[in-house]
Amino acid sequence: MKAGKELESMGVSITDELTVEVGNGKTIKFWLDRWSGDRSLRVTYPKIFKIAENKHARVADYVTVLQNENQWFITCSRPPNTDEEWSQWSKLLQQINGSRVSGKEDRWGWKPDRNGIFSVAAVRNHLNKVEANQEDGEWKFWNKWVPPKVNYFSWRAALEKISVKRELARRGMSLNNLLCPRCGVNEETVDHLICECMSSQRIWKEVSNWLKVPSLYGRRNCKELLEHGNMLKGSGEWKKIINVVIQAALWNIWKSRNDKEFEGHLRNEKEILDTIKEDSFIWVKMMSKIQGIVWERWVDFNIRDVVR
Ligand SMILES: [Zn+2]
Repeated sequence: MKAGKELESMGVSITDELTVEVGNGKTIKFWLDRWSGDRSLRVTYPKIFKIAENKHARVADYVTVLQNENQWFITCSRPPNTDEEWSQWSKLLQQINGSRVSGKEDRWGWKPDRNGIFSVAAVRNHLNKVEANQEDGEWKFWNKWVPPKVNYFSWRAALEKISVKRELARRGMSLNNLLCPRCGVNEETVDHLICECMSSQRIWKEVSNWLKVPSLYGRRNCKELLEHGNMLKGSGEWKKIINVVIQAALWNIWKSRNDKEFEGHLRNEKEILDTIKEDSFIWVKMMSKIQGIVWERWVDFNIRDVVR
């Protein structure tokens, strides 16, 4: 993936975000991508990675399929020579022998959440069930360029079903107070978290300025924000990008709220805006087929000429 270099130069690791189901292994980096086990092989077998000759080798470079059996040839600059190296070597072989390389194409997707329930299929399935019982039909803001867990969060936020203090109290949890952890002034409801808190207002103002769109600032709730993005003038592709950014902002507002509540760390709006820019860039870069979006122009949201 050519976006890789660019992202690495930003200090962002794509392998943290993406997972792949191995097919022929032609698009998968043997050491760097997360294709066998929960982590990349570089992380699991660091000693062997160190002596591997080509750190960027593809899975397909190392495997020959012989009558439905995989034969692995991993080239190293020298043979393993310590107990630790030999031990990692044999575990590595054991692990990859369990992987099935086939004639099919590799299939890339988003990493499921830790507990595995946020796979695309699982969330989609869940949403379909809920939608079937909902009057206003399908969740129209589902965006394929956004990780499933974030789509899921936006949807929950629009239904006001996220664990802010007001909601926790309603479900019987006893709390010291119901105050917003960020401003400490108002009660923490979903609308306060997303829109009303001074900190959120500043974030939406910054995001609006960055996107150069009529104000996203001043919206009352999550659904209104998403609707507003949808009603802006522009092509479908451009609006889809605006939606990516709005969802990245929702997600980062929630993350910054949790940082404050659980870690006592208050991030300033500038920091949060930077993360929103980075997340949305990575998502669009990895999941859309739009060519020519580069980080230097993304930070100014200078994309009108490359977006249909
Ligand atoms: Zn607040």
